[in-house]
Amino acid sequence: MTKSRTEHGIKGFRGEIITAGHSGYDTARAVWNGTVNRRPRVIARCSGTDDVAAAVRFGRDQDLEIAVRGGGHNVAGTAVCDDGIVIDLSAMRAVLVDPAGRTAQVQGGALWGDVDHATQAHGLATTGGIIGHTGVAGLTLGGGIGWLMRKHGLSVDNLLSAEVVTAEGRTVRASADEHPDLFWALRGGGGNFGVVTSFHFALHPVGPMVMAGPVFWAAEDTAKVLRFYRDFVADAPDELGTVIRLGTVPPLPVISKHLHFRPAIAVGCCYAGTVEDGELALHALRRFGTPLVDLVGPTPYVAHQSGLDDTVPHGWHYYWKATNLAALSDEVIAVIADHAYAARSPRTYAAMFHMGGAVARVPADATAYGRRHVLHNIIIDAAWLPEKSAELAAAERAWARKFLEALKPYGEASVYVNFLDSDDPTSRLREAYGDEIYRRLAEVKAKYDPSNAFHHNQNIRPG
Ligand SMILES: Cc1cc2nc3c(=O)[nH]c(=O)nc-3n(C[C@H](O)[C@H](O)[C@H](O)COP(=O)(O)OP(=O)(O)OC[C@H]3O[C@@H](n4cnc5c(N)ncnc54)[C@H](O)[C@@H]3O)c2cc1C
Repeated sequence: MTKSRTEHGIKGFRGEIITAGHSGYDTARAVWNGTVNRRPRVIARCSGTDDVAAAVRFGRDQDLEIAVRGGGHNVAGTAVCDDGIVIDLSAMRAVLVDPAGRTAQVQGGALWGDVDHATQAHGLATTGGIIGHTGVAGLTLGGGIGWLMRKHGLSVDNLLSAEVVTAEGRTVRASADEHPDLFWALRGGGGNFGVVTSFHFALHPVGPMVMAGPVFWAAEDTAKVLRFYRDFVADAPDELGTVIRLGTVPPLPVISKHLHFRPAIAVGCCYAGTVEDGELALHALRRFGTPLVDLVGPTPYVAHQSGLDDTVPHGWHYYWKATNLAALSDEVIAVIADHAYAARSPRTYAAMFHMGGAVARVPADATAYGRRHVLHNIIIDAAWLPEKSAELAAAERAWARKFLEALKPYGEASVYVNFLDSDDPTSRLREAYGDEIYRRLAEVKAKYDPSNAFHHNQNIRPG
């Protein structure tokens, strides 16, 4: 890759500067969602906190649009902007574990796979996302939901402190004792308040072997399975994390070929306790009805965390709609069964996370993550191959919107901020937080970024 450290005059910058015409420009501007095609003026690939500070000051001085890239996974593509500067942390992926203190320092460009790998070497883990190639930064700053959340809380509930470069280019530490207002806002308020260069997380003993994996049933059984599941998870121990997946059976090597792409409902499971207790906890679920295939078994936690990575690779085209659900009523189950398999692309699916447990026990105003009382959170993920026709793309998008519309009468009028797509109206941002948390976020924004330099995100305007 051709590089220049000086052509854009970022004083004190020691990382890579990548601009149009350089051989790596197209790779560097690509994000996970292949529909996003933005052309930044400069990509500042930072090597450390000082580079981030220099890039922020440069962007401000030059009056450039500023985008911040962690893992590059946000479906709305907010990690890249047109004709501005991308502050790219993808070269900052170090994870430093303190096994005795059960904490980890994680750089702002790390992926969850990096964290799982380093922490599981010590039999430890913290709540992260369910796909290993998702970025730690964006996911954590929006809240962070995953297999371990019911036992160990959201990612933000495990955040002890963060190193942040503010809109002024100053480096500060945010924790319960230092800049507590900023620390509160970072735990759910997204990338609005500065660039996080390092996260300090609490870790917990997990695995290394856990009882985990999916059970699949035929799509025709969806309503029956969901009704059983609703009652099954109502009494589930906190250790049990489950995610429903509705779509076709993914063509993974661990699944027999004759099932690939067959419409099916799966309950993905991960028991964050002993394998023996996990076996007992999952007994009834695994014996329900006639599963197509049961892949639950003792599994290394680190393998479970990356087991679905290939089902959502970089570069495919994606479009998301999402909502929290007030309850998994019979009516909601009927809507889900009616819509989930009506998409045309075999790569499209919907996923429903079971919340509650430790997530719901944290007081609602303790962090900026809104809606802790929600029990089920559904995301409708249209996915198709880039080479497919514009007509298929339009059909998949229409399917996702129609599915969401059908759920609306039973929805919570609330949503997880990290699941919002680029065409979701700004009113949905308020839905994500509720009025009180949104008002507080706007106040913190006014203090730390009054001119809204960090607005290429799910933007909270300075109040
Ligand atoms: C395949 C897939 C699976 C997912 N699974 C889960 C899941 O299990 N649980 C869950 O909670 N979410 C999940 N998500 C959603 C995920 O939380 C968001 O997409 C999130 O934005 C990804 O973070 P990122 O760093 O990769 O994003 P990026 O696209 O890099 O960044 C998104 C935004 O975050 C902000 N940001 C990024 N890095 C920084 C930083 N260092 N400092 C300050 N701001 C920053 C910026 O505003 C940026 O615009 C998933 C997403 C995908 C695509």
